[in-house]
Amino acid sequence: MPLPLPLPLPQKTDILVIGSGNAGLSAALSAAQTIPTLRVTVIDKSPISWAGGNSYFTAGAFRTVHNGLHDLLPLVNNTDATQASRN
Ligand SMILES: Cc1cc2nc3c(=O)[nH]c(=O)nc-3n(C[C@H](O)[C@H](O)[C@H](O)COP(=O)(O)OP(=O)(O)OC[C@H]3O[C@@H](n4cnc5c(N)ncnc54)[C@H](O)[C@@H]3O)c2cc1C
Repeated sequence: MPLPLPLPLPQKTDILVIGSGNAGLSAALSAAQTIPTLRVTVIDKSPISWAGGNSYFTAGAFRTVHNGLHDLLPLVNNTDATQASRN
């Protein structure tokens, strides 16, 4: 069921997170998971359709791990192993 937006601000909160980007939502989630009884509120100055910060605009590669060039080269088409190995 969709939330009625914008939500009214609560009268009280234990943690107020300003900004609903990746950093803010991660902080809010971490706080709520660490102490589930905390009242966590996230506010953002953007229009509701833009909530979520710049993550909306990303290419989707997000906090990835790799083990070096052999993992990365298949993802790109503008270089080869020799060129990519140069300092
Ligand atoms: C075009 C583009 C492509 C990208 N591609 C990638 C990618 O592929 N992979 C990757 O890892 N990263 C990518 N990034 C970077 C990534 O999006 C950012 O590093 C990340 O989203 C930053 O998160 P953040 O929470 O720090 O800030 P933001 O996402 O900028 O969030 C900040 C939030 O705070 C709000 N805010 C600001 N001031 C106030 C205020 N005074 N009161 C209330 N709210 C406020 C803003 O409205 C916003 O919602 C890309 C960025 C862009 C712009």
